[in-house]
Amino acid sequence: MPELPEVETAVRQLRRWVRRRRILAIEPLHRSQARTLSPARCRRIEGRRIVDVTRRGKHQLLHLDDGATLLVHFRLDGEWVRPAGAEPRHARVAFALDDGRVLYLTDPRALCTITWHAPGAPPELALGPEPEDPALTAAGLRERLQRKRGPIKPVLLDQRLLAGVGNIYAQEACWIAGISPKAPADGLSLARVARLLAGLRRTLADGHVNAGRYHRGQRRIPFKVYDRAGEPCARCLTPIRRITQAGRGTWYCTRCQR
Ligand SMILES: [Zn+2]
Repeated sequence: MPELPEVETAVRQLRRWVRRRRILAIEPLHRSQARTLSPARCRRIEGRRIVDVTRRGKHQLLHLDDGATLLVHFRLDGEWVRPAGAEPRHARVAFALDDGRVLYLTDPRALCTITWHAPGAPPELALGPEPEDPALTAAGLRERLQRKRGPIKPVLLDQRLLAGVGNIYAQEACWIAGISPKAPADGLSLARVARLLAGLRRTLADGHVNAGRYHRGQRRIPFKVYDRAGEPCARCLTPIRRITQAGRGTWYCTRCQR
């Protein structure tokens, strides 16, 4: 599943391709998109210029020059493709732009969503602060965590707590911070929350540097714990253990994560 650094990479690429471009035509290529991109809705979008592309959590926002917003979410998979030639495989939506290029949203699982939001009515996203927002302090995060029940790792996936933290980066941050994924979220000391926030920022920064470490199921840069069951912990050599929390896999070191 694309996580925050992967979505950020997609947004940067998209911004380079479409900012200040006019949408000459938009066409849903698959029934999964036909409902939200009705003919009337497409007519409303056509002719508009894309003013900017921004990200909020794992959502991508295309801001149009009439004040409308196109909200895009990759869900489990997704990619922007701008081929020189034929329509790519798994193309779900095509945007013909005024530079003569056609941009496609591709998605093998057909779960991506694009929704149009009218001028003056931007999408309301129930999201907490961005983990990389400098205004977010350890004290602020601790206050938010104290309202949560349950072990820290699944709590970190709650998008209302922090925007954009997914399964991989949540457990990587716990490893960096030396915090057990099973530690109660509401019982972490300020010092431990500070380490956790620093760990989140470090693992996300690594993800940005590597332009998103995950692409179509392939990972080039190894993670510290994710998907490493039985391999030695990079810090203390204890074999990494896998458990299931809230239905998702969690990998961690039983020795140096307390
Ligand atoms: Zn360890």
